[in-house]
Amino acid sequence: MLTPAQLDRWLTQARSLISHGRLPDYIPQLARVNPQTLTIQVETVDGQQVVAGDWAQPFTLMSVIKPFLLLFALEQWGAEAVFRRVGMRPSDQPFHSVAQLSLDQGFPRNPMINSGAIALTAFLTGNSGESRCEGLRQWLNTNAGSQLVLDEKMLHSVRSLTNETNRAIARLLVEAKHLDQAEVAIDTYNHICCLSGTIADLAHLGLLLTRSNTVSLEAYPPIATQHQRIVNTLMLTCGLYEDSGAFAVRIGLPIKSGVSGALLAIVPHQGAIACYSPAIDQTGNSVAGLFLVEAIVQALDISIFG
Ligand code: GLN
Repeated sequence: MLTPAQLDRWLTQARSLISHGRLPDYIPQLARVNPQTLTIQVETVDGQQVVAGDWAQPFTLMSVIKPFLLLFALEQWGAEAVFRRVGMRPSDQPFHSVAQLSLDQGFPRNPMINSGAIALTAFLTGNSGESRCEGLRQWLNTNAGSQLVLDEKMLHSVRSLTNETNRAIARLLVEAKHLDQAEVAIDTYNHICCLSGTIADLAHLGLLLTRSNTVSLEAYPPIATQHQRIVNTLMLTCGLYEDSGAFAVRIGLPIKSGVSGALLAIVPHQGAIACYSPAIDQTGNSVAGLFLVEAIVQALDISIFG
C-alpha cells in the first residue's frame, strides 16, 4: 500500500500543474472555489485507506455522480431497461453536446455525458427533482457508507443560469420519446450533480464499483458483479469524454471526472483512487487529478491491461 509520504510527494508535483487548468465559469459557485485545494484518498477493498492534502474540504460531485446514477438504474431496473434509454457508444463531442444528440436522433450515446444522465434520471422515482435526488442520495449512503449531502448553495448557483444546452438536450430527448418530463429531468439532474461530500466519501463510492461480493465488507449489501463491470467499462470508454481513449492508453483504468474537479479511478478488485483539484482542462477533466492517478498507476503498475 502507498504511504502518506509518497502521496505528499506526488501532491507537491501535482500542485505545480494547477496553473495549467482553469476553473469553469459557467456555474458561478464553481468559479469561486479555491483553485489550490488538492486532496487524494486511496482506499482498498479490504478497508485500508491513505489520504493526503485538504481532506476535510467538501466538494460537489458534478458528473462523477453519473456512474452511480447508472449503477442505481442497473441495480433497480436491470440492464435491458437501462440500455433501451441510453447507448454504449463513446462520443468525440463535449459532454453537453446538443449536436451529438441531434445527429443520433435523440438517442443519448452513453450514460457518462449530459444527455445520457438526463435520460437516466427517469429511473429515479418521485415527483420532484428533490425527492428523486433524495432517493439516490440515501441509496448511495446506505450502500457505500458515504455521507453525501445536497449542496443547496451550489444548486442555487446552477439554477441561477438557464443552462440552455441542458434544456435543449432535454427537449430533444422528449421529442424523440426517450424522456417524458423535461422539467423534472433537468431539475433531478441539477440536484444530483450538486450532491457533495469529502474525498473519503468519494473513495467510499468508488468501492461500490470494485468491491468483491464474496469478500465484501459485510456491513454493505452486495452489488451485482455484472453491473459493476458495465459501469467500469463505460467509465473506461466514455468517462473522460473526448479524451477517454487517450487516457485508456496512458492510464488504463476506468475513470470519471466532474467539472468541479472531482476525479475517481477504479482499480477493479483492488480499490479506488479519489482526487479533488478544481482546475480542469479544456475537456473538463481535473489536471492535477489526472496527473496523480497516472503517477500512482505507473508506480504500482496497476493498469487493468497488465
Ligand atoms: N452539472 C454540470 C453540467 O451539466 C455537470 C457537467 C460535468 O461535470 N461535466 O454542466
